[in-house]
Amino acid sequence: MVVSRYPNEEPILKPNVKYVANMHGNEAVGRELMLHLITYLINNYYTDNYVRWLLDTTRIHIMPSMNPDGFESAIEGQCSGGQGRYNARGFDLNRNFPDFFKTNNKQQQPETDAVKGWLDSVQFVLSGNIHGGALVASYPYDNEANNMFTTFSSPSLTPDDDVFRYLASVFSFNHENMHLGIPCRDGTPGFSNGTTNGAAWYPLTGGMQDYNYVYGGVMEVTFEISCCKFPLKSELERYWRENRKGLLHFLGEVHKGVKGIVKDSSNNPIPKAALKIRGRDMTFYSTKRGEYWRILLPGSYIIEARADGYKPAEEEFIITSQEVTIQNITMYPTRVVSDQSHVSSEGPWEKHLDIGLDIAATAGPMANGEGSTSDTQLLSTHEKFDDSLEKSSVISESEYDEYFSGMGIAKEQEKADGNLTDYDIPPTADAVSAAGSLVRNFGFHYGFNYCTVIIVLAFSWWLRL
Ligand SMILES: [Zn+2]
Repeated sequence: MVVSRYPNEEPILKPNVKYVANMHGNEAVGRELMLHLITYLINNYYTDNYVRWLLDTTRIHIMPSMNPDGFESAIEGQCSGGQGRYNARGFDLNRNFPDFFKTNNKQQQPETDAVKGWLDSVQFVLSGNIHGGALVASYPYDNEANNMFTTFSSPSLTPDDDVFRYLASVFSFNHENMHLGIPCRDGTPGFSNGTTNGAAWYPLTGGMQDYNYVYGGVMEVTFEISCCKFPLKSELERYWRENRKGLLHFLGEVHKGVKGIVKDSSNNPIPKAALKIRGRDMTFYSTKRGEYWRILLPGSYIIEARADGYKPAEEEFIITSQEVTIQNITMYPTRVVSDQSHVSSEGPWEKHLDIGLDIAATAGPMANGEGSTSDTQLLSTHEKFDDSLEKSSVISESEYDEYFSGMGIAKEQEKADGNLTDYDIPPTADAVSAAGSLVRNFGFHYGFNYCTVIIVLAFSWWLRL
């Protein structure tokens, strides 16, 4: 269910956040609390300012049960054990996702497929994965790389560990007693502040939260909200009271950090741009509308963007503790096409000085990346400048063939002589000669072109002054 002010509308940059409960069918408290949460949000829109703000600014998706089959076979009153944990085919859904660290050979289940499809269709920013049987907020990674130096319970930290620790503690400190770190029973661990790194507790392969973070660009935290997996229904009211604040406040954290649009210089959105916060080696992507979100703690950051056909871009921004920072990213094509919208944004082109140069003149200095112009474009537009340019600059197909076949023959000969690996290619005299002639051609033509480019651009810049 989507709960929001206008759930059927998707305003630009309105973030999506989700809760998934009951993926282990016998961990039943979350399933019930999700129904209470939906009711609470809807009933309090006009009476609770926080709820109103949340629903006005956020799209909240709630899946009360990811494993209804497991729940059917689970037994009320069973606080521990595995009856109902698995789906009807006997698979543990929290071991069923593709894994960042290890190959997961488990047969992928329909429930897993459905969640993966959901993540593909909605760009979630933040997520809570609700379990039972312990009292702790556990954050990625759940798994770890094989390493002779790691022990069974060493932490496996993400590049966003500061953010995850913070998000986990938002829940645990808003929970009535999770932050106290009291063990559920003798022999089970108590967690400092009620939070833990997943792998530091126990590593697992195929978990949903690592998948969300690595493959879905979503910050997901796992909440173990009840010491008893399937308590008697008479206790549900207490669980709602203990968890209500944590569940509500965690949702609001989706508005921390940065968001914006990745676009080109004509304000067209760039979908699937690969984004990274410098110093945090984890890629996430812009949506089909160019939107991106990333939860970050206060500080100054640089975001880096890459997209096919565009030069890499980066933007510096500051996050404060107040409201989300909006930082759009403009990307410029690797090859500028002739586009009148680029020409002289500061005033009309001076016609009497126009000598017919049809390059993408920019309003700013060359360093902003707008001035790069493809050789071929210059060739086609400046033929009248120098007729000889086009002919002399084109390298024929046969010249390419000559070069590459020369290299190929050299490689085969050397291999036959037994003194060459695939990675080590000393060219023969023939190949050197073929390559040399091509290098000379490249040297001359590209040198000539670059000279022309510089002269033409300098001239056009001078005219504009
Ligand atoms: Zn569980």
